[in-house]
Amino acid sequence: MPDHSSPFHLPAEPQQAESPSPGDAVTEARRREVVSHLQQMVEPVLNSSIVDLGMVRNLRVVDNYVYLRLYVGRHQLDLQEQIRDRLNQLPWCKKAYVQICTIPGVRTTLAISSGKGGVGKSTTSVNLAAALRLQGAKVGLLDADVYGPNVPQMLGLGQADVRVIDTPHGQRFLPLEACGIKVMSVGLLAEPDHPLAWRGPVLHKIITQFIHEVEWGDLDYLLIDLPPGTGDAQITIIQESPICGVLLVTTPQQVAIADVRRSIHMFRQVGVPVLGIVENMSYLLCGHCGEPTPIFGSGGGQQLAEELKAPLLGQIPIDPTICSGGDTGLPLTFTAPSSAPGQVFCQIATALHYTFDTGNGNLTNPYSVGCVKPAA
Ligand code: ADP
Repeated sequence: MPDHSSPFHLPAEPQQAESPSPGDAVTEARRREVVSHLQQMVEPVLNSSIVDLGMVRNLRVVDNYVYLRLYVGRHQLDLQEQIRDRLNQLPWCKKAYVQICTIPGVRTTLAISSGKGGVGKSTTSVNLAAALRLQGAKVGLLDADVYGPNVPQMLGLGQADVRVIDTPHGQRFLPLEACGIKVMSVGLLAEPDHPLAWRGPVLHKIITQFIHEVEWGDLDYLLIDLPPGTGDAQITIIQESPICGVLLVTTPQQVAIADVRRSIHMFRQVGVPVLGIVENMSYLLCGHCGEPTPIFGSGGGQQLAEELKAPLLGQIPIDPTICSGGDTGLPLTFTAPSSAPGQVFCQIATALHYTFDTGNGNLTNPYSVGCVKPAA
């Protein structure tokens, strides 16, 4: 598997480990000079350094040449030329090679992750996609959860066939569509009721194909429903995609939080900003008196948010209609956006628009996506 880890976001050890000649003081000094120049380049919409946003990866300095990968959305392609111009001004630099890594047509790619399975990650992905769609955005949902690809069922797609089409760039998977959301899922490639038993290089190849070989058309947001945890599949997806940020889904209890804590390092290592925490199954509203009961404990999401200095974006109640919406293929947020859970998902969607569409966000300040209060 190629090594795509960011050279920027950890202190000295991993950065030096990536250098082709760690003993070479000149090369190291040049690398540092390149990093410091790139650090000053600000992505105008997110108002943060392209280095802090994890957009620059795989930096190599070889003699008088600089090589790097630039992970960008549709609207950020100009940065390639700007980086080249900037680095070519370095007196020793004969040429800077900036390889663009993008998902064609996609503006903003966001990942939805959880430390463990069953906490409501896919439910959050589907409902958030519906909320963004209801607010007028063009949305795609890539279900990359190789361990439990439930998105097709949650959107009523069952075992629909995926078509492959010829394009000028080669063959591409054509996404399906449900509730106005474009959908592609690893589950659509599997035999019904059979486990996905891909491992190692095959898994890597399939995931890479999923990221690069889907004909999404123009999208404002592509949400990627990641597999839970921190294994090879997760790391491949994060390293291969131009992810602008990740939302972490947890339930309030301490064991779930401990798992999320572990997964956070994976994102920090690659340099993907954590946009916030979504606490699911936060409380159950009594059908008679409306009193909220914290079935799985309380305060976990807030505790995690404070610890990670990332906002608690929303607290989703336990609601049987969320569950039945998932089973019948019509997400609750789509059918009842003014329900208590629907409101929270819509508020999170609004916070994302605020950050990614209007450019009012500043991801060096993790609170810029806004803290969404529970609707109940
Ligand atoms: P994950 O993707 O984390 O494995 P899912 O989104 O598949 O978890 O959710 C697991 C189960 O819990 C599903 O049956 C889903 O409908 C249900 N569920 C998730 N969130 C809620 C909620 N807030 N209220 C009721 N049921 C929920």
